[in-house]
Amino acid sequence: MPHNTTVALSTSHTLSRILHKYADWKIAATQAEKRCHKSSDTILLTFDDYGTETEVRCLLRTLADKNSKAMFFLVGSWAAEHPDLVREIEQAGHIVGNHTYTHANLLKLSDSKAQEEINRGLQSRWLRAPQGRADRRIRNLAESLGFSLCYWTIDSRDWTNASVATIRHTILSELHPGAVILFHIHGRHTLEILPKLIDDIRSHGYEVTAPSEDW
Ligand SMILES: [Zn+2]
Repeated sequence: MPHNTTVALSTSHTLSRILHKYADWKIAATQAEKRCHKSSDTILLTFDDYGTETEVRCLLRTLADKNSKAMFFLVGSWAAEHPDLVREIEQAGHIVGNHTYTHANLLKLSDSKAQEEINRGLQSRWLRAPQGRADRRIRNLAESLGFSLCYWTIDSRDWTNASVATIRHTILSELHPGAVILFHIHGRHTLEILPKLIDDIRSHGYEVTAPSEDW
């Protein structure tokens, strides 16, 4: 029995450590961070990272065709190399957020390195930590630099090998008032899915929100 107890304790300790680690970056996002646009009934589309010129222009054209506005969390090093595209995104009325300079895992950086990653990124009031990896330390650091952390409520999983049907199903089955949907500009099927998806979101009775600087 003592032996079994030791094993059980050890397993439980390991599990607790794993859960704690996971909670640090995945579950620990607050409701305010998940619903970062603070709108109770509209849907916010967010597009992360970077893309080719073609991908960015195609996305902007679709959003314009659908009379929709979105939020872009851009990697700073990419933005520095594509100032024209960043300008086009902003001039189209979308909001640009900080996604660090090199898409670094902030949890692995010291305070000063994490601060440097954020400060070298895009000027914004909003920060989405790469892969959503933030904990209390990163949250406090971001807030001290004047940022609000932005998470999401629906992961489209467009960054995986998921099929068009799976991504559509994921989003439409999880749709809820105030949803913030995570997409990637470079997502394999994102541009293909988007036009009909916006129509479908509207046919479910939701409006795709126009983000405002007043949040
Ligand atoms: Zn990212």
